[in-house]
Amino acid sequence: MQGIDLEQADHGVLDDLRIVATPAARGLSQLVLRTDVAGMPLEWIDYKEAARLYHQEQVAYTCGSLLYELYGGTNARTGRRTILEVNSIVATVGHTGNPGNTRHDYVPPLNNQTLFRRDAYLCMYCAGRFPARELSRDHIRPFSQGGTDLWANVVAACRRCNNQKASRTPEQARMQLIAVPFTPTYAEYIFLKGRRVLADQMEYLVAHFPRSSPLHDRIQRWLS
Ligand SMILES: [Zn+2]
Repeated sequence: MQGIDLEQADHGVLDDLRIVATPAARGLSQLVLRTDVAGMPLEWIDYKEAARLYHQEQVAYTCGSLLYELYGGTNARTGRRTILEVNSIVATVGHTGNPGNTRHDYVPPLNNQTLFRRDAYLCMYCAGRFPARELSRDHIRPFSQGGTDLWANVVAACRRCNNQKASRTPEQARMQLIAVPFTPTYAEYIFLKGRRVLADQMEYLVAHFPRSSPLHDRIQRWLS
């Protein structure tokens, strides 16, 4: 298979290289969900990385919808133009991008973006919905009382509730959590990290969530 210079293609430099985003992709920034050969979700990759995996013959199979068609140069031997089709979900052989991600005790890194998404942008005290900029990371048991910065000890809270609670536990502040915080599994974390998750990618990821995941319910509410 003939190679495609994706960097140049990206900038439209070469006339004989063309990338066509299908309506499903709505532009070139839509990310592809990469899984291992057993179907375990691994990471989000862009179309260039996906195309590289095709060229390295690491793609075992694909699922989901067609996102991109990459038209390469003409093969000197066959006289045919290379066309590469990139789908929304790509299963790959070989190394996994993130060792340990299939371990049951894997703990994804904590950051506010994924935390707020985990809590569906709700303040876990007053149950109000807020944009990310109006939310803060509340430590249920505060640092001053031995609390840690771990998924199970943090929730999204609006500034008002966070101020009101101050350096106290919910009991001390007489405030009640509306939901129990949880540590996302790897599949849940990949979902929470997604920039724009297509319906087929979401369906795929949700199928890998634990049955008891609070995200099942929260996603339904997001969609409604
Ligand atoms: Zn609040």
